[in-house]
Amino acid sequence: MRYISTRGGVTPVSFEEALLEGQAEDGGLFLPESYPNIGNRWNELKALSFPDLTFEVISPYAPDVEQATLRNLVRDAFATFDDAAVVPLVQIEDLHVLELFHGPTLAFKDVALQVLGRLFEHVLKHHGRVMNILGATSGDTGSAAIAGVQGRDGISIFIMYPDGRTSRLQELQMTTAVGKNVHCLAIDGSFDDCQRILKTIFSDVEFKRNAHLGAVNSINWARIMVQIAYYVYAALQYNEPVTFSVPTGNFGNILSAILAMRMGAPIRALILGTNENDILARFFASGEYQRGSVQHTLSPSMDIQVASNLERFIYLYLDGDTDRLSEFMHSFTDTGHAHLPCGGQVDSTIVAHRIGTDETVATIRHTWGRYGYLLDPHTAVGVAASAQTQAEGPVINLATAHPAKFPDAVDQATGLSLARHPRLAALDENAARKVKLPSDPHRVREHINARLLR
Ligand SMILES: *Cc1c(COP(=O)(O)O)cnc(C)c1O
Repeated sequence: MRYISTRGGVTPVSFEEALLEGQAEDGGLFLPESYPNIGNRWNELKALSFPDLTFEVISPYAPDVEQATLRNLVRDAFATFDDAAVVPLVQIEDLHVLELFHGPTLAFKDVALQVLGRLFEHVLKHHGRVMNILGATSGDTGSAAIAGVQGRDGISIFIMYPDGRTSRLQELQMTTAVGKNVHCLAIDGSFDDCQRILKTIFSDVEFKRNAHLGAVNSINWARIMVQIAYYVYAALQYNEPVTFSVPTGNFGNILSAILAMRMGAPIRALILGTNENDILARFFASGEYQRGSVQHTLSPSMDIQVASNLERFIYLYLDGDTDRLSEFMHSFTDTGHAHLPCGGQVDSTIVAHRIGTDETVATIRHTWGRYGYLLDPHTAVGVAASAQTQAEGPVINLATAHPAKFPDAVDQATGLSLARHPRLAALDENAARKVKLPSDPHRVREHINARLLR
């Protein structure tokens, strides 16, 4: 199995290369050359635990990783989850929820990042290499990335975040990580400043090479690959094809569902929920991809106006026509607008809804009142989107965060103080480690340079 770039400008690479490089050198994203069909293996796969099913789903995509090692690494990754099923499927009357928040930071990103950190460690060791991960976060991605690599050999991680602009819980989840290889950089500026610093440092090609810099953002193929497993796992628990409802920001999670369908999983359709940052809802209704300005909502991990993983969908939609894909992406980068000729709805299996703040709050309140089940605001966007959709067969809502990660919004919606989790309550201010730095790429680079793993 080799990996091509969506822009068609690089010679196909191996899985390990795609893993370590993250983004292709021509600016495109990596995709596998083919998608193995597992549609004739349902009975065998149905009987497996989630970790072993994950191994079966990802193993053809990672043939260059020793297979027994891969299996153990996946089992080890999911042993950090606090539910025996790893990703339990909860059914209360007609409400079906796939809980993806039982990992160390209580959000769905743990599913992929716990595997990714272990994959990095293994592959780096195999090649006698080290990696210094540099990232910027507005809150949630940073803690899941840190939890994935903390204490791992051959990896250091430097995460920048805007000082004083993340929630207290989000900051503590990052700064109380115990690994010596974790560096939290509280930048005196906004999230945009952090991203600007990141870009500046990465654009120095020589420094990037000498410092063995790497990234763990949502465009890494390995994250998409691991997420395919929970769609297969949940779909196999029903006797008829299912529909998934997915709260979406960067289009990473739902892309994995599309690939699960490609691999033959019994999935009828997908429901895509966005908050007020509705670029994807507009795109799927019309083919018009038009950038707006970012609005701050109750579901901050979906406050995004550029969905980086959409590039992979467009590539597949255009049947791998890299010229047309490049044209689309360049048009969007240059003008903030691009158009996919489709005459209305882009894909008959994907229906998208924009869910406003009032509706999100009402959905949390209603779901608590009717089912006694507490939703976080991201999950509520997906549940509200499925309520607006006439679907045939069961609809499975993806729960992407534990409600206790967003206690203000959830408590406000229910009027009660229910959104709590012992692990979050135990986060200790006194154990926090962070370094405050000015919003200056040179100063940040100096700081990192003195602490690099070599
Ligand atoms: C990241 C995140 C999302 C959005 O996932 P995408 O892959 O970017 O679509 C949704 N909910 C939560 C809680 C998240 O952390």
